[in-house]
Amino acid sequence: MIIDGKKIAAEFRERLKERATSLKRRGIEPSIALINAGNDPASAIYVSNKQKLAAEIGIASTVYKFDDDVKGNELANLIKKLNADKNVHAILLQSPLPKNLRFSEFVNLIDPNKDVDGLTLVNQGKLFAGEPNVIPCTPFGVLHLLQTVREDISGAYAVVLGRSLIVGRPLAQLLLNNNCTVAIAHSRSKNVPEICKTADILIAAVGKPRLVGKEFVKPGAIVIDVGINRILGSKKIVGDVNFDEVREVAGAITPVPGGVGPMTVAYLMSNALDLAYRHAGI
Ligand code: NAP
Repeated sequence: MIIDGKKIAAEFRERLKERATSLKRRGIEPSIALINAGNDPASAIYVSNKQKLAAEIGIASTVYKFDDDVKGNELANLIKKLNADKNVHAILLQSPLPKNLRFSEFVNLIDPNKDVDGLTLVNQGKLFAGEPNVIPCTPFGVLHLLQTVREDISGAYAVVLGRSLIVGRPLAQLLLNNNCTVAIAHSRSKNVPEICKTADILIAAVGKPRLVGKEFVKPGAIVIDVGINRILGSKKIVGDVNFDEVREVAGAITPVPGGVGPMTVAYLMSNALDLAYRHAGI
């Protein structure tokens, strides 16, 4: 079974449009601030896509663009201003920042109740404590996809390949909060294929093109591929999973593109709406 992230995200976006309309009927204009500091070409595309999706759903968005030579205090002042602005419900700081600025330092200036990607230490800590405030978008999207295949994942053995702050760690925590038994494998793990092969649910978030072959996968397992890797010298995007090989063994699998990617941006908007509702006390 191929898990069609594009279709599932399209259905989800329809629900988001209704939620945005309902807020507007109550006189509240949901809004997101998108901060793009630096001249990373991929970031420019991501931010523009987020802006388009916000418009489609009915969320007002403003992009704050800085060049590579932006000063730390300029960025900090903007974040403080947006924190104080009652008309801004959600703030996204696009990663990566220019080399001289530490992402963790600036993301943690965002008010946790406007931290749309759930990346502040406060929100990471709340997820860790099992009392989530804002759940990071990619893990939230992955959970949604999983639940389209297996509504109750309680008791499933899940292996998360990768331990980044944006994907691997919060995803493992989210699965634990949903009563999975969870293991995390990373670049220093030994016998990675063997660890992965025990999983009922295998999630790859490593950033290594087609690393996960069929020897990593238990027959019938659900395989979610978070990876987005551009093949050098071509426009082709591939995941961390060798799709053609693994689909022969897996019970269900997400493609790349058209799997997790569309869910991530949809959940960014969903989180923005949640924050706007909460801000309005609804
Ligand atoms: P990251 O920060 O580079 O983290 C990669 C993780 O994979 C690290 O924990 C690393 O281990 C581990 N790793 C690397 N090589 C490994 C190997 N051979 N065996 C086992 N583990 C290995 O990347 P990320 O931000 O989590 O992103 C991962 C991938 O997902 C990338 O392709 C990225 O583009 C994609 N992504 C997609 C979406 C989406 O919406 N679909 C969103 C975010 C990211 P160490 O910790 O030991 O270094």
